[in-house]
Amino acid sequence: MTSLRFLMMVLFTALCGAAPARAETAAGDKLPVVASFSIIGDLVRQVGGDRVSLTTIVGPEGDAHVYQPSPADGRKIAQARLIFVNGLDFEGWLQRLIDATKTHGLIVPLGNGVKPRSNEEGLDPHAWQDVSNVRVYVEEIRDALAGVDPAGAETYEDNARAYIDRLKALDEEIVKTLSAIPPERRRVVSTHDAFGYFSARYGVTFLAPQGVSTETEASAKDIARIIDDVKDHRAPAVFLENVSDPRLAKRIAAETGARLGGTLYSDALSGARGDGATYIDMMRHNVKELAKALAP
Ligand SMILES: [Zn+2]
Repeated sequence: MTSLRFLMMVLFTALCGAAPARAETAAGDKLPVVASFSIIGDLVRQVGGDRVSLTTIVGPEGDAHVYQPSPADGRKIAQARLIFVNGLDFEGWLQRLIDATKTHGLIVPLGNGVKPRSNEEGLDPHAWQDVSNVRVYVEEIRDALAGVDPAGAETYEDNARAYIDRLKALDEEIVKTLSAIPPERRRVVSTHDAFGYFSARYGVTFLAPQGVSTETEASAKDIARIIDDVKDHRAPAVFLENVSDPRLAKRIAAETGARLGGTLYSDALSGARGDGATYIDMMRHNVKELAKALAP
């Protein structure tokens, strides 16, 4: 091989590497991306559509506070171009996994883009419980995807715009439904403190025996305090959560006489056949359950 031919081959290879053919639709050409848990997974799917090959680490009904990653999760992270995470101290197991895989993928922490809430325990990671924050998540997903896949920028832009329109309608629907409930009845008990952003946006107070993470169990003192609170303020309903042990909520309902509401989706979607299989469905379900239990 002449040195000129060799040089041309090197140049050609370099050019191909710099401009991969992302417009192809074969499975192998899809952009490999990872989402840390089911809610972010849905948002990435809404924006990325057919252009991404998505792996969600903590799936439906899973508790991302206390997840135990597997070697298969590590392999997916090692191969990913983008790794979408919530941040705000939500996925405590994630940094070690990312370090172990030595991935070259870009970590995109979505919750860091919103105004974070915090309490004496630290940051409250559950920003997705306010629909206006999810709009910010979606814009960040759109920009990150377009950054590594410029050929898809227009698709991501269109998908994000259409989805944000649906989010705006959802937000208005929630405000309308819950504002119809008398303010003094808008008090409920959940298991862990996952609804701070929801409370701030939609005006429903949540009392929770367990803190912002499911990692530490509720103490006897915390449970007694909630039972007193429920009796004092007459919170009309106690809700179960899809990521928490139902026994605590059942006990509080039994000891206070509060109504046992349905199950709220706090930190995870339902499975595909459930009524919270997407973010929008999950929020609609929660608001329907709240309205049903709190109606005078
Ligand atoms: Zn949580």
